[in-house]
Amino acid sequence: MSLIPDDVIEQVREAADIVGIIGEHVELKRTGADFRAPCPFHGGTHRNFAVIPRKGMFYCFVCHAGGDVFTFFMKKLGMDYPTAVREVARRAGIPIPERGPAGPDPREPLYSAVATAADWFARQLRESPEGEVARQYLTSRHVDLDTALPLGLGYAPRGATFLDAMKGLGLRDDVLLEAGLTAKREDGTVVPRFRGRLLFPIHDLRARVVAFGGRILGEGEPKYLNSPDTPIFHKGQLLYNLHVAKHAMRKAERAILVEGYFDVLRVSLAGIEEVVAPLGTGLTAEQAQLVKRHTAHVILLYDSDDAGLRATFRAGDELLRQGLRVSVATLPPGDDPDTLVQRHGAARLEELLKDAVDVLERKIQILDRKGFFGTLPGRRRALDRLLPTIRAAKDPITRELYISRAAEAAGVRKDVLEREVLGAGSRERFPPSGPRSSAPSSPLPASAEKALLLLLLEGEPWRARVIDAVDPEEFEFAPYRAVFESVADDAVLALDDTSARAYEHLKAEGLGGRDPNAMYEMAVNWMEARRLERELERLDDQLPFESPDRQASLIAEKRRVFDELRKRYPRYKIAARRRGAPGT
Ligand SMILES: [Zn+2]
Repeated sequence: MSLIPDDVIEQVREAADIVGIIGEHVELKRTGADFRAPCPFHGGTHRNFAVIPRKGMFYCFVCHAGGDVFTFFMKKLGMDYPTAVREVARRAGIPIPERGPAGPDPREPLYSAVATAADWFARQLRESPEGEVARQYLTSRHVDLDTALPLGLGYAPRGATFLDAMKGLGLRDDVLLEAGLTAKREDGTVVPRFRGRLLFPIHDLRARVVAFGGRILGEGEPKYLNSPDTPIFHKGQLLYNLHVAKHAMRKAERAILVEGYFDVLRVSLAGIEEVVAPLGTGLTAEQAQLVKRHTAHVILLYDSDDAGLRATFRAGDELLRQGLRVSVATLPPGDDPDTLVQRHGAARLEELLKDAVDVLERKIQILDRKGFFGTLPGRRRALDRLLPTIRAAKDPITRELYISRAAEAAGVRKDVLEREVLGAGSRERFPPSGPRSSAPSSPLPASAEKALLLLLLEGEPWRARVIDAVDPEEFEFAPYRAVFESVADDAVLALDDTSARAYEHLKAEGLGGRDPNAMYEMAVNWMEARRLERELERLDDQLPFESPDRQASLIAEKRRVFDELRKRYPRYKIAARRRGAPGT
């Protein structure tokens, strides 16, 4: 079946007349934008079976059969997936290349296992007594079960009933493990990956369920847990809801990017279908490319707090790098898309989207509001914040406009800024801004990495102290790493052009009257905080699958690392902890 190319399947699905096809099997009656009929699967007499052409799907509110036009043929006529695609293609008049000699897709058992699990999880949400906690949770978020079920939401109970159920349905242990539905502990025992969680199914571009995102209900960590990467799921290469949103993106000529699953749910229930979310990580380059296949304009709709803004601008830069046009919609303080729609309705959301401003303009607004442009050093720092966005803009016209606008806002000559944009940092990531951003009176010149290099260049005893305190790999900014290595090895003449220029700049800057002791202490603390942060990430990855005993000791370990982190750098966490928590 891998022989039918994805884009052909896509073309077939888009061309398919789902109402006409299903209408040959049942008598459909229009109700609003949808169609209703007695269900052909459980043989009911009431009109509980819905066909929703806008989403290209069907769903029965009694027996819960649901899916797209291909699934309909598979379930109704017992066809396999490729046969169903060919049948729909024949009716839509789309030619499909003949079947070649290759056999079936070896990943078929994984798709099938995830689909079986999805059905089982949905049934737990519907009717299991233990699922009451999930039903109550949805009620508390003002989501009806009738809304949640057609979207395939499910509940994964605590305990091991999932394992027995899957065994009863004939699924093999190794397949469950490979599909990411179970996990192996360090001692070799196998446990369900999702326990005590509300599950959001994640679909691939063919609208097949390939993974889940699970929100914890009650106590537990982490708050959100996704399926791991598997042969059928690569989280950096998929977006939540893209299988539905991509059609709407073309029509609306825009995509709305939100942070979490609930945000997607609420925005799409408000009738705005072109909404997607990354899968628990920052937006990746591949995800940005995926969006670009369907539209040229993205509106970012994240929280307006500091962490939300940082996530906004990170995603914005990634989208600019792919040549997309990027706007930012601004939510009232304290609101997320979910609460906004609940409180003020869909019309308010649409207004907000209409008021979205270009991402660079939004940055300038924020810097202006914080008074950055009022002083000379402030203007310099404001430019440092704008430069990454200007450099990210791949489209030459956008970049040109950005340079003009930033030069105007900061009151510098355009040609001066142009040179800076093309300068040393143009191909490298800008050095992390570090403590400077939250502490204007900080003795750090620009970042911890730079502070350490300035000290290193002061000669002994600072040179020895710095070399003792950090390893070259800890320098994230490549030219700085090169400078560090070359000074440590007395090989400054071997630097390449970019690093040599960085070296000259650092030499020229010097300590400038700053207190080296204070500088050293802050910079080393910052580097240590980054180390601890990496350690926390490692623990988080390991935590969900361990036995309760081992979990308890890992949690204790986490707390210890976290306390250490706060002691080292009280403000550090606020910035970094947000990752891995899509939606709330
Ligand atoms: Zn039914």
